[in-house]
Amino acid sequence: QCITHCPVNALHERDDTDSVYEAIDDPKKVVIAQIAPSIRTAWGEEFGLSPDVATVERLAEALHMIGFDFILDTDFSADLTIMEEASEFLDHLQHPTDHKFPMFTSCCPGWVRFVKAHYPEFVDQLSTSKSPQQMFGAIAKSYYAKLLQVEPENIYSVSIMPCLAKKQECDIPVMNDACGDPDVDVVLTTREVNRMIRRAYIIPSEIKERALDMPLGLGSGAGNIFGATGGVMEAALRTAYHFATGHNPDPDAFREVRGMEGWKEKVFDMDGTSVKVAVANGLGNASRLLDALKAGKVSYDFVEVMACPGGCVGGGGQPIHDGKFEAPERAGVLYRQDAKNVIRFSHENPSIKEVYQEFLGQPNSERAHHLLHTDHHAWKMPGEK
Ligand code: SF4
Repeated sequence: QCITHCPVNALHERDDTDSVYEAIDDPKKVVIAQIAPSIRTAWGEEFGLSPDVATVERLAEALHMIGFDFILDTDFSADLTIMEEASEFLDHLQHPTDHKFPMFTSCCPGWVRFVKAHYPEFVDQLSTSKSPQQMFGAIAKSYYAKLLQVEPENIYSVSIMPCLAKKQECDIPVMNDACGDPDVDVVLTTREVNRMIRRAYIIPSEIKERALDMPLGLGSGAGNIFGATGGVMEAALRTAYHFATGHNPDPDAFREVRGMEGWKEKVFDMDGTSVKVAVANGLGNASRLLDALKAGKVSYDFVEVMACPGGCVGGGGQPIHDGKFEAPERAGVLYRQDAKNVIRFSHENPSIKEVYQEFLGQPNSERAHHLLHTDHHAWKMPGEK
């Protein structure tokens, strides 16, 4: 699956577990882990566990037993991404002559690399918001370091991702903190983490659950569905609607963007404004969509693209079961978790409210811009001039 689906065409997964063991053994380092939304749908498969048993809390306990100090949730920074990206989208809608349409999501590094390599004329239309992984890293080595009263250089930031392209993303030279250290030190895939669990002789079905650490361990249902194709769009529309109208929509008002079709398009009414969106998953569908845009055959306001079929639930770093396409089942787990979450909107996550009140100010503030946004032209693809 990783060979055929991985957008960076990784034939062999680079194993970064040794770097993590070194950091765990270093008494100066505070080792933190962020767990991506789609990990909770898949990590237990290699241990024969159902999603009800293979919870994110049980994974947190396993990571703590291995030696991680704090276990946090990328759902938190998915909510942060939505705050920034929904504000950006609204600004585009309110000042249409200042922007080209559609605006594209930018949270998938496989997709960003694809655009830079093959459709550079669309790079300026990518959202400038960093991905949840990179926003998390930036907040971990600034706001969270302050909360922990630890120097940022002593935080070792590990992200647990379904993805091989994320290993490249954390190495992008502009994704650094004020000292020049990477915001995310290392990315481990679901498979690497599972190997670490086995090496530690942990039997996941026999361990208890451990609550994630606060305040960065709290995510909304909207943050959780980032792991499935259509999830970023749905989460962004929930909050963009609130920002535009001052009240919440039905949390399921935008559910029509769900599902495994390769290229979906929908029109939604945002209190009198008609918003046309599209969702593409898999780079073949993205390519068809971009060609249709170039030919003037379609037009949209906002487009989500995820490079892997089904989105991150089908990512190249997830457990592999030959001949099976697991993404629909894994996506179902995320949507059920969203439905059960008492917080369905990114802007209602209390930890998000706190980080803006205490540290960032407003979405798109100067500090938010500095820490949470990026310039997609600031780094080059191999061979790019
Ligand atoms: Fe990585 Fe998810 Fe993009 Fe696949 S869809 S490349 S797993 S971010």
